Parts: sequence; C-alpha cells; structure tokens
Amino acid sequence: MSLGDKQRLFTIAVSKLIGWAYGQGYELTFGDASRDPRLHGKVGEKKAYGHAKSAHKKRLAVDLNLFKEGKYLTSTAAHEPLGEYWVTLHEDAVWGGTFKDGNHYSFKDGGCA
Ligand SMILES: [Zn+2]
Repeated sequence: MSLGDKQRLFTIAVSKLIGWAYGQGYELTFGDASRDPRLHGKVGEKKAYGHAKSAHKKRLAVDLNLFKEGKYLTSTAAHEPLGEYWVTLHEDAVWGGTFKDGNHYSFKDGGCA
C-alpha cells in the first residue's frame, strides 16, 4: 500500500471517528493535522515542538479538541472512549492516550505514530 493510499484510508477513518463522536454527544474541532516538514523537519528530524518521528509529518495523524455540553475536555481520560473506538477502525490505528497525548489519533507507519 502506498503512503497516499494509507493517507486516504486515514482520512476516511477520521471521518468515521468524528461521526461516531457526535453520535455520542461529543463535539470536536481540529488541532494539528499535517505538519509541514519545512517547519517541523523531515521524518526523524526535530525542528519544532513536535516529535521527530511524528505521523503528523506523513499526514497520518490528527489532534482533536474534544467538547461535551459546551465544555472543553482536555484530559486523556476524556478522550478514552474515542480512543477505544479509533483503534477498531484500522489495524494501524493508534490512540495517543496509550503513549503520549490523549487528543492524538494516528496510523502507525514506518516507526512513526
Ligand atoms: Zn498529535
């Protein structure tokens, strides 16, 4: 599977996660999605705040801001239901709450997550 194929599957999976979350009474806004390597460095290189091997650099990650009943929910625990659903959507789906940020949803690829 090419990286482009995987990016497109990732985008479909994000749309499923968003639809599922709204069905559960959550609302979302986007945080970081793609990180430009001109600003953040190529894969394996750290130039800014992100991780050197971030899947954001491959367009395989998105950070989602979570809301319920008008309240902004920042804890990893608040994201857990979404994370549990996320990992059912694809064999490479990884939820950031298991290793770093609870608002990070990605597909692992070549050592990036
Ligand atoms: Zn992230």
